[in-house]
Amino acid sequence: SDIGSQKDRVVSEEEWLKKWETSNIGFHKERGHPLLQKYLDLLLNGRSGLRIFFPLCGKAVEMKWLADMGHSVVGVEISEQALKEFFAEHSLSYCEEPVPEISGGKKLQSTSGNISLYCCSIYDLSSSVVGKFDGVWDRGALVAVNPCDRQRYGSLMITLMEKNSSYLLVTVSYDPNKHKGPPFYVPESEIRSLFG
Ligand code: SAH
Repeated sequence: SDIGSQKDRVVSEEEWLKKWETSNIGFHKERGHPLLQKYLDLLLNGRSGLRIFFPLCGKAVEMKWLADMGHSVVGVEISEQALKEFFAEHSLSYCEEPVPEISGGKKLQSTSGNISLYCCSIYDLSSSVVGKFDGVWDRGALVAVNPCDRQRYGSLMITLMEKNSSYLLVTVSYDPNKHKGPPFYVPESEIRSLFG
């Protein structure tokens, strides 16, 4: 029932945009996530030059880390402000182009070409637009997806994965009676049913 109370809760796109406008972005980690460093080998599995996907990317600094290691990074984020802040904060120049398959969608690509960030909803993407990925860094993504969209999100992510890809997923274990977020509780049983 505790999880049930979250089931119908929704964070709208407008609310996310507002968070960026008001700098209400406590989720952003300026120093990057320690768990990516810890499990990097699991993600890479000895491979180089991977295509790595960042769903609901915000301005995650890990995108810069992985690009600097020689991988090619693709992110998706509804807030254009977040993406512009990413490029500005890393002093990266970029160019902007419309995405013909996505109405209103834009792609912001670093001039060096190894970081491509789509400004649109993740649900607008498909493998015919972005291709498939060798690795996924999912932090603040599945847990930010509205519970009613989880199944759709999980199915989409599976279609975006290459055969031998690795998916690092960060979730948070807590008592949903005591804490409201971040922003949704995803029980392990549900992760198994989505990706199992
Ligand atoms: N992964 C990032 C950001 C986590 S917060 C990090 O680790 O810092 C979740 C982000 O998802 C917010 O920036 C929000 O604007 C974005 N978002 C929410 N719904 C989205 C959607 N449907 N498609 C793309 N981005 C979305």
